[in-house]
Amino acid sequence: LSDRLSGVFDRLTKQGALSDDDVKTALREVRVALLEADVSLPVARDFVKAVQEKATGQAVTKSVTPGQQVVKIVHDTLIDVLRGEGEPGALKIDNPPAPILMVGLQGSGKTTTTAKLAKRLKDRDGKRVLMASLDVNRPAAMEQLAILGKQIGVDTLPIVKGEDPVQIAKRAKTQAAMGGYDVYMLDTAGRLHIDADLIAQAAAVRDVANPRETLLVVDGLTGQDAVNVATEFDDKIGVTGVVLTRMDGDGRGGAALSMRAVTGKPIKFVGLGEKMDAIETFEPERIAGRILGMGDIVALVEKAQETIEAEQAEKMMRRMAKGQFNMNDLKMQLEQMLKMGGMEGVMGMMPGMGKMAKQVQDAGFDDKVLKQQIALIQSMTRKERANPQLLQASRKKRIAKGSGMEVSDLNKLMKMHRQMSDMMKKMGKMGKGGMLKQAMK
Ligand code: GDP
Ligand code: MG
Repeated sequence: LSDRLSGVFDRLTKQGALSDDDVKTALREVRVALLEADVSLPVARDFVKAVQEKATGQAVTKSVTPGQQVVKIVHDTLIDVLRGEGEPGALKIDNPPAPILMVGLQGSGKTTTTAKLAKRLKDRDGKRVLMASLDVNRPAAMEQLAILGKQIGVDTLPIVKGEDPVQIAKRAKTQAAMGGYDVYMLDTAGRLHIDADLIAQAAAVRDVANPRETLLVVDGLTGQDAVNVATEFDDKIGVTGVVLTRMDGDGRGGAALSMRAVTGKPIKFVGLGEKMDAIETFEPERIAGRILGMGDIVALVEKAQETIEAEQAEKMMRRMAKGQFNMNDLKMQLEQMLKMGGMEGVMGMMPGMGKMAKQVQDAGFDDKVLKQQIALIQSMTRKERANPQLLQASRKKRIAKGSGMEVSDLNKLMKMHRQMSDMMKKMGKMGKGGMLKQAMK
């Protein structure tokens, strides 16, 4: 997205408020980016509309392009939508034994996620967890959970042939209560597609277990389809949270945005691989960056303000390293000082200038003096500023008069300029390539 946007805005160098056209052009690209990240069309459309309202008329920070600014607004809005309420990663597991029901399509990662979460609850929260597989259609699936359980040191409910999911759920509940477990997790069977059977089975289990959390496991790579799955499960069974799996893959994670926008259910965790540790609390910031595929733009915009000042200082240093220091440079310094509230701030940024900064300050530099000096420089012509040697008696009188000051004030300013300029030159020559040049490297 960032490439695309900067392409659009490369020619757009003007500053100021974002115009409607700027925003429109950028948002067209944002919409395409969202669709490419598998965000569903209605969600993308609503989202862009929300951003448009926020962005129109916002002032553009000086050193970023309107495109980048729009990206920042998009990013912030995205995070708002993704975050939702409640704390990501938190599970309601008070009142032991707390049942957690895992639902989702076949292959979405239910069994893997069940074990990952069990391990997390055990390791992080010191909880005693019991896992039970309700996948009676596939004996291998029950075996899979038992193997994972051994691997992570979490108990699984013994497998009893011929039981149906509801019977297993009941047995898990009893076993969890008797065995003093804090949590018991019910890993249900999935189908490739949602059908009445699957839903009915999950609903029956829910009615028996009365789960504290019903987590919908969704393959993060499935994109738009995930929304239908989530809507269906939520309508029929009631979902308390979503786990997005396979976020270690190439998928852009657009499903996350769609699901949040459509179901309003919080995304609690993301799966980041096949290993048992590969699960993390959902972080809106990370997914937002990924959906937009925009790298550092947001950070760039946030840094913009600082950068302007740093850029100016750098430019000045480069000029000074060449022994150039005219009245424009001095004016810029004085203005910076005014802004930054003191000489030390500015000069502190330059090597070897700290001491001089102190001298100048001790000599009674306050805002009023700074402003007078700036006014003096403003009364000079462009030629005079670039080449202070031009300043002879008649010009001095004109300048002093123009700024409501005395010629003696101007003389003081010129003396300061000469001293600073000499110092710059010395520093520029110092050492191989000059001290400032060294500092610039
Ligand atoms: P279930 O049918 O919903 O129970 O799905 P499984 O838990 O059996 O997972 C199906 C496959 O996806 C297995 O090979 C898992 O190792 C793999 N898988 C699950 N979660 C992730 C994940 O977050 N990242 C990756 N790369 N693979 C995963
Ligand atoms: Mg399974």
